Amino acid sequence: MTDDQLKERVRDAVDIVQIIGERVSLKKAGKAYVARCPFHTEKTPSFNVNPELQIYKCFGCGVGGDVFSFLMAYDKISFPEALRALAERAGIPLTDAAGRKHQARREANDPYYQANALAREYFVDSLNDAEKGASAREYLSRRGLSKETIGKFGLGYAPDSWDGLLALARIRGIAPNILVDSGLAVRNEKGRVYDRFRGRVAFPITNDSGRVVAFGARTLDPDGEPKYLNSSESPVYQKNRILYGLYHARDAIRREKSVFVVEGYMDVIRLMQDGIENVVATCGTSLTAEHGRLLRRYSDRIILVFDGDTAGERAAVRAGD
Ligand code: ZN
Repeated sequence: MTDDQLKERVRDAVDIVQIIGERVSLKKAGKAYVARCPFHTEKTPSFNVNPELQIYKCFGCGVGGDVFSFLMAYDKISFPEALRALAERAGIPLTDAAGRKHQARREANDPYYQANALAREYFVDSLNDAEKGASAREYLSRRGLSKETIGKFGLGYAPDSWDGLLALARIRGIAPNILVDSGLAVRNEKGRVYDRFRGRVAFPITNDSGRVVAFGARTLDPDGEPKYLNSSESPVYQKNRILYGLYHARDAIRREKSVFVVEGYMDVIRLMQDGIENVVATCGTSLTAEHGRLLRRYSDRIILVFDGDTAGERAAVRAGD
């Protein structure tokens, strides 16, 4: 999102009448509101606020503008300060703008993000490999996922190999330790390191800037255990702070003013493909207070859609707390 888009979004989310009304005593006059001008001395009110256009204008001294210029003039603050104050009030995270460039640069140089990006590349290439990816492609199409959906969510396939990702990482200069610490590889008691995900469809899990921080992976073996395997936690992945699908769902959550929380990655993907886009899932954990705080940055209306079995109900009740 550009700075202009952020400004637009913040302007849409606040009400100029309310903001000015907290500082100046406004009286309703027809469709507008009037006051004695705070920017020049006068006895009769010539200061007008127009709720439809979300602007103000003084017919005495000529000042006028939108909610940002009012706050800058009245509170004597800069534009970034006004933007910050109003964004906070509207619950719109500022990481969307100023913080984003900095965050992007920092993340690009972080080895844990690099390891996860490499894993996604490897899994996607494997899914597209005519031979290796055949069974995974067959599984995904049986589940009704379109090519666009598979691409949008970056779905891939972890081949049935003990060291496919490790070998590629070695070529790219990423140390086995980084893969282990990223939760993508495992070290056994004998000190041998091997790929964590083997013979599984891989669902990349992204943070709120869209960068891959972990994977959920479903086995293709009907007898395979566990059915779903997740990356272990790492410096960039704490599962009680990450919601699957949030990066894609954010705009829809704001638009719909509500969010559905479901249990599985596949539920999120299928619903989004069918046009219900304000939906996220937890990553193999129950909903935490941290998740609640994260979601409330986007909407206050959180709808839990959990399985009707006892485990699902227990999870929903805990989450309700
Ligand atoms: Zn005036």
